Amino acid sequence: MNTDELWKAVLGQMELNLSKATFMTWIKPSKLVAKEEGTAVICTPNIFIKEWLQNKFNKQLLEVLRALSPDVKSVRYVIGVPTKTQQIQERMYQEFVSRQENTKDFIDPDINQSTNLNKRYTFDGFVVGPHNELAYSAGMAIIKNLGSLYNPLFIYGGVGLGKTHLLQAVGNSIWTDSKSKRILYIPCERLVTKIVSALQNKTIANLKDEYMTLDLLIIDDIHFIAAKEQTQEVFFSIFNALHNNGKQIILSSDRQPRSIPAVEERLRSRFEGGMIADINPPQFETRLAILKLKSQQKQVEVPQKVLEFIATHVQKNIRELEGALNRVIATMQISQKDISVQDVEKMLTSYLLGPYRRTNTQAVLKSVAEFYGISLTDLVKRSRKKEIVKPRQIAMYLLREETHASYPEIGEKLGGRDHSTVMHAYEKIRNEEENDEVTKQELVLIREKIYTNLSAL
Ligand code: ADP
Ligand code: MG
Repeated sequence: MNTDELWKAVLGQMELNLSKATFMTWIKPSKLVAKEEGTAVICTPNIFIKEWLQNKFNKQLLEVLRALSPDVKSVRYVIGVPTKTQQIQERMYQEFVSRQENTKDFIDPDINQSTNLNKRYTFDGFVVGPHNELAYSAGMAIIKNLGSLYNPLFIYGGVGLGKTHLLQAVGNSIWTDSKSKRILYIPCERLVTKIVSALQNKTIANLKDEYMTLDLLIIDDIHFIAAKEQTQEVFFSIFNALHNNGKQIILSSDRQPRSIPAVEERLRSRFEGGMIADINPPQFETRLAILKLKSQQKQVEVPQKVLEFIATHVQKNIRELEGALNRVIATMQISQKDISVQDVEKMLTSYLLGPYRRTNTQAVLKSVAEFYGISLTDLVKRSRKKEIVKPRQIAMYLLREETHASYPEIGEKLGGRDHSTVMHAYEKIRNEEENDEVTKQELVLIREKIYTNLSAL
């Protein structure tokens, strides 16, 4: 057997042993490239896969290889430029993944076939904070007064802020309390497709009848409603029939009703006729609480400092917050050791969509001055006022930590101080960050300020 044939046989064997997703993700993209004196060399497309194979699959791969070719005594993993075949495999894998995501027939065991609700979205997994309190309370009120209090409930907010989660949690909660209620969750795009094909097939009456039986209709991302007159006509009549019968409607959108240009006036005034609640980006405390909850759910203990780092830097989108955490957890599991803030910093740089922006001296000094309510001039000049001492030490510490400036550079920037003064301040605050609750809290808030100021520049 040459290496190609051997690898083919190994793949065949591994495919039998593993789930399809595991096989496609970790094994398929790699390739046996050589056998050198009893060592099989497996080429992997990236470090991530290399480490997984090494840590999780080494034993299994070795066993399979040995069974097929007894001269193999060990396996070595290398990272290599993908060959033509690997590129093709990678593309096939990507297609496989997107097919899985797009196929409507693909049955997700978490999705309730009758309500179309995903059971993973519950209130147990939902953190309530100042950013979503209003929408949350409205949802709670609906659960208690279905159809009779706020109808419709219209929730709007930016991408990844928890609209879908909240909508579905309301649905799930009602479903859990009373299985006799007819509930349907549907993304707006899917509803539009249904209406369009019912119009083509002349089955609008059936579609309406079907929706008429609902006690609760949840339509997600209503801003995707098409500007087509006929579609909105059907939509309007379904909406009215439900509404008039005291049946509950919940809608979500990425903006307010009056900012969705496609919506006809009469529909817009219907949307505005109930309760409108917004969801905003969460504050630092809430972001931290979300990260804590998610890591608890995954039963992984992530160091507090790492969670704080993520919460400080990922601000606008809870989905990204979760994505960053998942990356960290995956890395912790691969390397099987604790992860440092430096590791996370490196990782976030490549993870976040936009390049992760390093801050600058100005943003740090401005944020420190603002936070302590002192003037920038006082902070940087040789003032001896007592109340300036701590802010200045904090500024020195943060300049070192956040901009990686040298001690002499920092001394220069803060009124020509000696580098040993800066060093002393740095050590002092670093110690306080470990041991003093007040300083710790202040640093968290100032860092948040720094990165908010930065994104506003
Ligand atoms: P949207 O529909 O607004 O784009 P999603 O509801 O899909 O956002 O939320 C994005 C991700 O963030 C989901 O995985 C969701 O579970 C999570 N998430 C959002 N808000 C919260 C929250 N308050 N508590 C816990 N997880 C949340
Ligand atoms: Mg959504």
